[in-house]
Amino acid sequence: MKVDGACSCGAIRIEAEADPEKVQICHYTDCQTATGTAFRVSVPVAGASLKVTGQPAIYVKTTAESGKPRVQAFCGKCGSPIYSTTAGDGVQSSYTLRVGILRQRDQLTPRRQIWWRSARPWVTELGDMPHVEKQR
Ligand SMILES: [Zn+2]
Repeated sequence: MKVDGACSCGAIRIEAEADPEKVQICHYTDCQTATGTAFRVSVPVAGASLKVTGQPAIYVKTTAESGKPRVQAFCGKCGSPIYSTTAGDGVQSSYTLRVGILRQRDQLTPRRQIWWRSARPWVTELGDMPHVEKQR
C-alpha cells in the first residue's frame, strides 16, 4: 500500500510503498532510548519506492549486539524519528520507516514483536489500564 507522512514540524516528508503485513514492534533497549518511549513501531520499505523530501539528520548507531552500524534518520529541527537503514553510499535496498509519522498508521497494525525479552513488563497490561480520552 502507498504510505506517506511527515515529521512533527513538516520539514521532512516521505512517500513509499509498504507491506502492512510487515509492521512490527521492537522492544530493544536501543529502540526505547532512541524513541524516548517503551517501544518502536516500524515498517520496512524498498529503497526504490522511498521518496524523501527535505534533508533528514543522520546518526549512525553501532549496536553492541550486532556490531553493525545502523543509520538513524530524524528531523534535525523537530527530532521526529523518520527511518533507519544500512550504512553506505547511495540508495539502500531497504529502509525501516517509523509508523508514527505515517498518515496511514491506523491501517498499519503490528504483526509481531521483536526483542520481547527487553519489553517493559507492563506492555501486556495496557488494555486493562484506565482509558481517558484527554488529560492535560
Ligand atoms: Zn521536523
